[in-house]
Formats: sequence, structure tokens, C-alpha cells
Amino acid sequence: MQESIMRTSSADLYDAYVLKNYARAPITLVRGKGSRVWDDQGNGYLDFSSGLAVSALGHCHPHWVAAVQRQAGELIHTSNLFRNPNQAELAKRLAGYCGPGRLFFCNSGAEANETLLKLARLHGIRKSGEEGKCFHVICAQRAFHGRTFGGMSATPQEKIQKGFRPLVPGFAFGELNNLESFAALVDERTAAIFVETIQGEGGVNPCTPEFLAGLRQLCDRNNLLLMIDEVQCGIGRTGRFFAFEHAGIRPDAIGMAKGLAGGFPIGAMWVSERSAELFQPGMHGTTFGGTPLACAAALAVLDVIEREKLLAHVTRESVPWIEAVTRFSTDFPAVVKGVRGRGFMIGLQLADDPAPLVTALRERGLLTAAAGGNVIRMLPPLNATADELRLSVEIFRSVLSAKA
Ligand SMILES: *Cc1c(COP(=O)(O)O)cnc(C)c1O
Repeated sequence: MQESIMRTSSADLYDAYVLKNYARAPITLVRGKGSRVWDDQGNGYLDFSSGLAVSALGHCHPHWVAAVQRQAGELIHTSNLFRNPNQAELAKRLAGYCGPGRLFFCNSGAEANETLLKLARLHGIRKSGEEGKCFHVICAQRAFHGRTFGGMSATPQEKIQKGFRPLVPGFAFGELNNLESFAALVDERTAAIFVETIQGEGGVNPCTPEFLAGLRQLCDRNNLLLMIDEVQCGIGRTGRFFAFEHAGIRPDAIGMAKGLAGGFPIGAMWVSERSAELFQPGMHGTTFGGTPLACAAALAVLDVIEREKLLAHVTRESVPWIEAVTRFSTDFPAVVKGVRGRGFMIGLQLADDPAPLVTALRERGLLTAAAGGNVIRMLPPLNATADELRLSVEIFRSVLSAKA
């Protein structure tokens, strides 16, 4: 027996050493290329989980790899004690998508959203003239804004909050797409409204354009910030750079993360010119935010989205794909109750717990992601080809046929 090949399996090491806070699939992924990943047994998968909407360019896109390799050999981290050219360039490029305003860089979606929640507090002081008087934030039922205390407090889901109370005070929850229910929650303590354009973890629940336009008016009438969480639905996923663009509105602040650096950890907040001055030196920060390496990865993502015209690609290719997937609800009505979403962010509403179907799909070579409310999400890379989209439909159909 050779000592060198007696390595303990990843499964055993996870069992022994890794915190048991996830219900992980029993496969170990070791390699990726484009829309495909392979496990340590050599099995290939079509990856339409995209690492939870993160791998926007698929795996190991050559332009992304070259940019990250180049930057890793040049300068990786400096902290925000100093400027670095990549952060400067990324802020400018993102402002081009967001509008006049300023960017703050951090490392995750939750951290981006914490920044938005702190912005709401500062706006409340500007509005009321003192601290602690105007700090309420109205969010949506079934929202998901992250696992930090602020994020959890903005996430009205028992499975997320249970065990961690008391939470941060000052959150209220309106019914999605019911403007009256949001309006009824506004009072003099309200500082901001905070919603995802399309709820992701909550089950792929889109805001209607009318609802978003109504929230914009409600905020304008009451001097509230309209803050949009585009952590999952942003960065091209719906065929526009931001999903709220479909509604023709402009928010006061935007949270971004997941797809922004194509797999490298990053988060960002954009805030409009009018509120950018609320943050002054020393009021907020993070050690890792906006490193040369993270920003190089994000710039590579923006390059590829622009050069390969991925917004137009998502818009065009999603139409037949969503049509084909929507047919499941007429062909397999006992299992699939409906299909929601836009572009490359779709959710199939199932009759029951999605876990067995997620497993069956994986065993047939298609990776998907469950979401709340018995939903299965498909989140292909933005550059998934028409053939790959068709293949996902074939695999899905064959699994549903076997089940029916
Ligand atoms: C994933 C997600 C978050 C949290 O992002 P993390 O990087 O996991 O902290 C926040 N909001 C939305 C809409 C998300 O999908």
C-alpha cells in the first residue's frame, strides 16, 4: 500500500473538520470549463447553479483567467489606506451602469447590504435631525438579504432567523407587489425601502414594473431612500445590467455582489450623488474591500459582458429556453406548477419539496439550486450557449418523464 495514495477522501475530511452548517450534495467538484464542471470521479455536469449566480462567465473563461493571473503576479492587496488603479477604474465603469454617484467595495452580498442599511441610518439622521428617531427600513415578505445581523433582520424567514434572536430593530415587511401594504407601513420613523428586484432565495419572485415605479413615488413623496438589492438578479442576469432597468426606475442605492467578479469574492454598493456625502472618512470600511485582484476580476467580467454582448445574448436566448421550460407546467402539471423569472434567472414552482428533483437532475448531469417555497432555480452562466440551454431542457424533461 502506497502511503501517498492513502489520502483521506474529501468526504471524510468534511465529516471530520468542516462546520455542518450546509446540506451539501455528496459530490466533490475539482474542475470547470465554460458551463461544465467535473467531480473527482470524472463525472461531468452542466452547471446551471453557477455557484449561486456567481460564475457569470461560466468556469475559467480565458479572458478572466488571464486578467486574474496577470494581476496576481503584479499586486494583490493594499488595503484602503492607499488608492489602486483597478478600484478607480471599476468604480468608473460601474457608475456608467448605475448613474451619477459613488461606489463602495466590499467582499460579499451581505456586506454590501450592511452598507445599504447603514446608509439608511445616515439618511434617517439627515431627515429627522437626530440619531435613533428615523431608522426603520421596510422590506418585502420572503426577502433574502444575507446572513449577517442586519441582513437576517431584513430577511423575514423563520428558517434564517430562528436561533439568532434578538435581531436588529426597525424592520417592517410589506407584501411584494402590493404597494398599499408598503405605503401603510410608512411613518415618520421610516428611512428607506429595501427590496430585491427579483427575489432569489425566496423563490424567484419578481417585482412588477408598476410596483417598483410605485415604490419610487412612495419614496419620493416621503423622503425615503429606495434601496435595491441586485446581489443575485444584477450584473446581466436578466438581460439588462440591472434587473430594475426593466421597470425604468432609478434607485437611490444598489447592492451588488454574486456575479460581479465572476467567482472572485466581491461586493459593492452604489449610492446616488445626493446621498453619497452621507459617508465621511472613518464612518465605514472593510480591510479586503476593492483589492487590485478582486477589481481586476470584476473588470474582466465587465469586459466580457460588453465584448461578447452578453446582455443581448441573455435577452435573445432566454426566450426559447423559458418557453421550453414553461411547457413543463402543462406537460407535468402534477409536479411543475408554474415558471417565473426573467433572462437567465428562472424558478420552477413545484408542488412539493424540490430536494429529490435537484438530486435526480444532478444524477443525470444537471446542477440546479433549490430556493424557498418549493422552487428549483436555473441560473446558467450568462454565456451559456443555445445548445447548452436546450440540453438543460432535455435533461429536465427526461427526469420529469421518469418521475411522472
Ligand atoms: C446571496 C444574496 C445575498 C447575500 O450574499 P452573500 O454573498 O451570501 O453574503 C444578499 N442578497 C441577495 C438578493 C442574495 O441573493
